[in-house]
Amino acid sequence: MNAETRITGTWAQTGTQPRIAIIGAGMSGIAAVVKLRKAGYTDLTVYEKTDRVGGTWRENTYPGLSCDVASPWYSFSFALNPNWTHRYSYGPEIQAYMEEVARDFGVTDIVRFNTGITDAVYEGPQWRLTTSRGQQEVFDIVLTATGILHQPMYPDIEGLDSFAGNCFHTARWDHSVTLEGKRVGVIGTGSTAAQIVGAITDKAGEMYVFQRTPQWMAPLPQKRYSWAWRAALRLLPFLRKKAYDFHMRLMVDNFAAATVGDKAKQAGIQKACLQNIEDNVPDPELRRKLTPDYQAACKRLIFCSDFYPAISRPNAHLITEHIERVTPEGVQTSDGEIHKLDVLVLATGFDPGAFVLPTRVSGENGVDLQTCWDGAPRAHRAVSVPGFPNFWMLEGPTGPVGNLSLITVTENQLDYVISMLDRMRQDGLAAIAPKAEAFQAYNQAMGEAIQGTIWVTGGCNSWYIDKTGTPNLYPWMPTQYLEEMQNPDFSEFRLMRDIEVRPELADASAG
Ligand code: NAP
Repeated sequence: MNAETRITGTWAQTGTQPRIAIIGAGMSGIAAVVKLRKAGYTDLTVYEKTDRVGGTWRENTYPGLSCDVASPWYSFSFALNPNWTHRYSYGPEIQAYMEEVARDFGVTDIVRFNTGITDAVYEGPQWRLTTSRGQQEVFDIVLTATGILHQPMYPDIEGLDSFAGNCFHTARWDHSVTLEGKRVGVIGTGSTAAQIVGAITDKAGEMYVFQRTPQWMAPLPQKRYSWAWRAALRLLPFLRKKAYDFHMRLMVDNFAAATVGDKAKQAGIQKACLQNIEDNVPDPELRRKLTPDYQAACKRLIFCSDFYPAISRPNAHLITEHIERVTPEGVQTSDGEIHKLDVLVLATGFDPGAFVLPTRVSGENGVDLQTCWDGAPRAHRAVSVPGFPNFWMLEGPTGPVGNLSLITVTENQLDYVISMLDRMRQDGLAAIAPKAEAFQAYNQAMGEAIQGTIWVTGGCNSWYIDKTGTPNLYPWMPTQYLEEMQNPDFSEFRLMRDIEVRPELADASAG
């Protein structure tokens, strides 16, 4: 046998449907099924590691959970919802919406629940997936829809396991634990902690918030929608679209612009945040402790109106001393004090580099994706990686996270992937993957542009920053990213008509 074997007669060459695997039935997985079907791709299989759709909205159930992207925009463009009760929806309402859309669009029917993907191995030009149940199946195309922040980050604090009370991460909320009258500790002051502290401080006996770094916080202009407004939205679909566009423009023109170099907008945000502290924190010492020494929007800006009133309550204590250790009784800080607790909540965020994990992904020549990333995930236009043909990531590394509704990002990424599939079908291609040179040029340009963003110039540390010390984010206006997704440049890709593969893989694929 020759050292290499050619494979032809793939789906695009024979005019059959590609077999497409979608990993994850959260927001991106749901959008993938709807949009792929609409584009004429119907042989779809969705793998979901749990027993329900919804992703982050299924997983996070903590008190106060809400979305700081306005509901009219945090919606699928193909299922704009006239029934949102609030401008910023609460978690259960978003989860119900995800389930409703999945049901109405026939997504739920094709999800294999309680079935994770442990391994994805490229056997050019197809992918062999192994499920958590030990089954194997071969697909032409793989789409990961596994989300961004999904692996809880547990803090490395001495004695954490010794705590005698109830201790859990925010994404693993233990609803069997009552908080009424209890001494509750929250480690962390990010978006999640702010929502929780805002929601539970009036119920807790004593609330202890352990702050390592102060955060900038803007008020959240929450509003309950009137019956009349919702009736108008139901009657007039164009109003839903208007509201979608309005909220997108508002965030892009103000918040997003401030992050990628508009200094006047950034200064405006910082001023509004300072005013927010001034207006809502009466105690000057508490104000001092809560005021950051870096620039606003360097870490993801928190939008929350409940935290400052809550932390100003008589039963709330903001602890800024360094945490030394956790003891069976509570949390001991560097001043020697032990803060006695009944419940300890870890609002310590997520592993931001866990894209696609825990699936092991092995590309051309057996290259492992995590090894290739080496702790600093990168992608070509946030969706693909050289050496991993016919493999597409929704919400992959270096996307415009935090600056857009992630639903808008996913939908535009799907349009891009569909353009690739259409091109494969049109040209009878066996595989498609970004060229290494295109990937390098794109990432180099991003690496230079990111230096001018607030995430670098703002003087803070954040979960955006990876092992290389660089924020894992899109450094230009996010609308430019959407344009890139709508206008794919095929010269950046290896368009492979037939594939040369190692004989053992060709045999395996044929078998
Ligand atoms: P996060 O922003 O990463 O915040 C983690 C917090 O834990 C920080 O205050 C961090 O302090 C602290 N921390 C971590 N390890 C610690 C340790 N060993 N000792 C003491 N403190 C420690 O996580 P998050 O609040 O879960 O939010 C993550 C992201 O999720 C947000 O940025 C946002 O994008 C998204 N989110 C969005 C919404 C929404 O409404 N759309 C709601 C919640 C979350 P340092 O600051 O010092 O690192």
